[in-house]
Amino acid sequence: MTHLLQVSELRYSYGTRKAIEGVSFDVRHGELLGLLGANGAGKTTTISCIAGLLTDWQGELTLNGKPFRPAQRWSDRALIGIVPQDLAIYDGLSGRENLKLFAKLSGVPKAQVADQVSKMIEFAGLESRQNDYVKTYSGGMKRRLNLVSGIVHQPKILLLDEPTVGVDPQSRNHLFESILSLKAMGISILYTTHYMEEAEKLCDRIAIMNEGKVVAVGTVAELAFQIGNPDATLEQIFLRLTGRQLRDEAS
Ligand code: ATP
Repeated sequence: MTHLLQVSELRYSYGTRKAIEGVSFDVRHGELLGLLGANGAGKTTTISCIAGLLTDWQGELTLNGKPFRPAQRWSDRALIGIVPQDLAIYDGLSGRENLKLFAKLSGVPKAQVADQVSKMIEFAGLESRQNDYVKTYSGGMKRRLNLVSGIVHQPKILLLDEPTVGVDPQSRNHLFESILSLKAMGISILYTTHYMEEAEKLCDRIAIMNEGKVVAVGTVAELAFQIGNPDATLEQIFLRLTGRQLRDEAS
């Protein structure tokens, strides 16, 4: 697999508060990369820089080897989809109307909007509720609509920021299945979470973030090898690499 997105030494501060301090990792073609970190580690800031929602960052971003500037170049913007942590859908519109709006805003050609919207409704399992106001949807239905709103323009890379926060187990499983189907369609995915079991279950590789930096990247097996315990669980690896627990339990 070759690199799709390369993130090098990314830095961003909110005023004087340094949020990320030299984040480096890559997302390979067709992979699902987990960005795992505790609250405040810098996951959302990283995603927001990549998506062009934050602009005055330092460092380097490349996509397919070329400088990547979604905030400045429409052609770059069209290659990414972002599903933010906070729901970015309109309560006062129906699911279908929301998707039409996002399709138009993200540059889907007019002749393809209806077809693409129908595909997304079906993908989200919202056929029977597509014409109801979003304010009448359950939390899980809103999350599913939020997800397809970010991919209605068929991006090459999808940035997912903690998509399962506040979702019940049934909708969570539906979201997992949807994410894996997107991967099967060839979309590369960067998935932030602080849930170890999600990262372990879904991701091909995992980048572990701590205090504004990526401290390790690899498969669970590679990371386990790195900490010198091939049988370690992801939770044990995370705790060891982020120093969030005493180094060794007494044996
Ligand atoms: P969470 O899992 O809680 O969403 P995160 O890993 O996504 O956390 P960020 O939201 O990127 O972390 O936050 C990184 C750091 O930047 C934290 O110290 C946070 O307090 C700070 N921060 C985030 N947003 C702002 C902001 N708008 N203004 C000032 N500081 C911020």
